[in-house]
Amino acid sequence: MSLPLPADPYSLANGLDRIRASGRFRTRRTIASAQGTLVRSEGRTFINFSSNDYLGLANDGRLVQALQAGAADYGVGSGASPLICGRSRAHEQLEEAVAQHLGRSRAVLFSSGYQANLAVITSFAPRRENVVVMDRDNHASLIDGARLARAGLRRYAHHDVEELENLCGSDCALVATDGVFSMDGSIAALPDIVALCVRRRILLAVDDAHGFGVLGKTGGGTPEHYSLEQAQVPVLMGTFAKACGVMGAFVAGPDEVIETLIQTGRSYIYSTAMPPALAAAACRALAIVERESWRRDKLRALVDRFVRGARQLDLPLIPSQTPIQGLFAGSAEAAVRRSERLRAQGLWVNAIRAPTVAKNTERLRITLSAGHSEEQVDRLLEVLAVTAE
Ligand SMILES: *Cc1c(COP(=O)(O)O)cnc(C)c1O
Repeated sequence: MSLPLPADPYSLANGLDRIRASGRFRTRRTIASAQGTLVRSEGRTFINFSSNDYLGLANDGRLVQALQAGAADYGVGSGASPLICGRSRAHEQLEEAVAQHLGRSRAVLFSSGYQANLAVITSFAPRRENVVVMDRDNHASLIDGARLARAGLRRYAHHDVEELENLCGSDCALVATDGVFSMDGSIAALPDIVALCVRRRILLAVDDAHGFGVLGKTGGGTPEHYSLEQAQVPVLMGTFAKACGVMGAFVAGPDEVIETLIQTGRSYIYSTAMPPALAAAACRALAIVERESWRRDKLRALVDRFVRGARQLDLPLIPSQTPIQGLFAGSAEAAVRRSERLRAQGLWVNAIRAPTVAKNTERLRITLSAGHSEEQVDRLLEVLAVTAE
């Protein structure tokens, strides 16, 4: 016999009501097919313009095969954290492949980019008196890293390198920036940021979750886009969950950077290693990313096609040359309404609201993939034209 509980024993309903009243309530939708440019959900098929599967690899047969072969060799679970007995030959091979691909001395794997960023900030700004300086639009995981580290956090206006310089005092231990910003698709002014960090001898960390695989001739990401090397971008984080279509993440850089993360990164030390089969799949993905540059070429052509079409329609486009394309909606309600209208037409485009972006800059976030066809992009433009308010 269980005791009767009051309806809301922890008084959480008020908080939820407040979220609903503010227009920020989020609902989860379920997909009944593999990830791809066409997805099945709630009995309907949608053209998907919301995933981060930029190169169309999430359901690639070769990755499925590599995952299956990895499971046959290593089983499913890794069994422990990497420092205990959870690090397999598959992990080691992936670390070596990442380092080689990016021209870095070493790399270390994490189960997710979120965990990688927690380790980066807490390891390189470990004391209260340390200050981390960040772009105001940096990803939440970098900000959470600074909170966890209890380091001082200073934020400069989006892309404002002059303000960054003013915030960099002698107490500054680390500058951290997204390579490609996740909510507007803009690319960080890395050459300017690098020049400042090299001159002032401040460690620079770049979170290239959306650049890795997408930018640069070989998919080396934002640093390769600007021809910047290890000495200029010493802490480079990337995830396998986006362009690579898998899961897991890495930090690549000089030996001391990587060894410090292994020795002091608590989100590394106290968390189970990613499954070895996923490392095997990511390794296969990395080889495809490097070799099949036609995917990046096709993606760039689709981005150009979309931007050209959106300009002709006079849509409130946020300037971006990457596959992340934002359309300002003006309010949370308007963004959701617009997203629902697109949904009714069979297009999956998520509304991005505060607190993910600043209030009154709510937007539709459109992401393009090498898996899309020109016809699908044209269809999106056609529907956007007739659903404008
Ligand atoms: C997605 C993302 C992350 C987190 O990576 P996961 O591997 O999904 O945990 C970190 N930073 C940025 C900018 C991201 O977009």
